[in-house]
Amino acid sequence: MLWCAIGAVTVITLLAAGIHLNRFPVSSVTEPRPATSPTDDVLAPWPSPEPRPDPQAAPAPPVPSFDKGARSIDDPMSIWVVADKLRPLNPPTFVPTDLVIAKVPYSANATLRTEAATAMETMFAAAKAEGAGGMMLQNAYRSYDAQKSLYAGHVSRLGQAQADIASARAGHSEHQTGLSADIMPDSQACGVQECFATTAQGSWLAANAWRYGYHLRYPDGKTSITGFAFEPWHYRYIGVDLATQMHNLGIITLEEFFGLPPAPTYEG
Ligand SMILES: [Zn+2]
Repeated sequence: MLWCAIGAVTVITLLAAGIHLNRFPVSSVTEPRPATSPTDDVLAPWPSPEPRPDPQAAPAPPVPSFDKGARSIDDPMSIWVVADKLRPLNPPTFVPTDLVIAKVPYSANATLRTEAATAMETMFAAAKAEGAGGMMLQNAYRSYDAQKSLYAGHVSRLGQAQADIASARAGHSEHQTGLSADIMPDSQACGVQECFATTAQGSWLAANAWRYGYHLRYPDGKTSITGFAFEPWHYRYIGVDLATQMHNLGIITLEEFFGLPPAPTYEG
């Protein structure tokens, strides 16, 4: 009976020790807990291990490359058309087929191609909403004949050399594409003058027009490439994709972006 009692006590003691060991295994207290997920890595009280490739993760998608040939730069109906002193519109008397009057304030005219007009309306509203103030158009689409008269007026006032820096010859003007417009504050302060760059509207456009597909076509310091003096008021619609790509790359003329020769003067 005594031995039975000793045996029972021993069994109970061993069982208790076993239960104790099972409930509190030594390894769980002293060894690091292996990290099994990003959450564990974050919560681990010791330095996170080096990043390891996750065999289950899908490979990163390739960065989409920009296709410079996606649209024509020669077709005058393309929103990427490049017109300059070496690249007349073809035909020179081209007239866009989808001209509308943009629903924005204007002094001379607000005629633009449909897509450019819609983007202009959105951009004007955004400028006002973001505190840059109201804007209006001074001019937009000009026909071949209208450009011819305008250029002739510049020549008679300034002489041909100065006229060629300030105004395009008929058939070479971006205004004839229906994609360009001259923008000014709704107060008309600094209208079509270089000081427009220092107005709230001018500085907002310089920083934000790309978001709406508009491009400052004749930037400061690029006369040797574009052929025209700095025109902080002249914006050209090129679409959001191209405007964003140029913005991201920091390329500020269409000639440089498309690898075209500088066009400081007309041929002949
Ligand atoms: Zn202009």
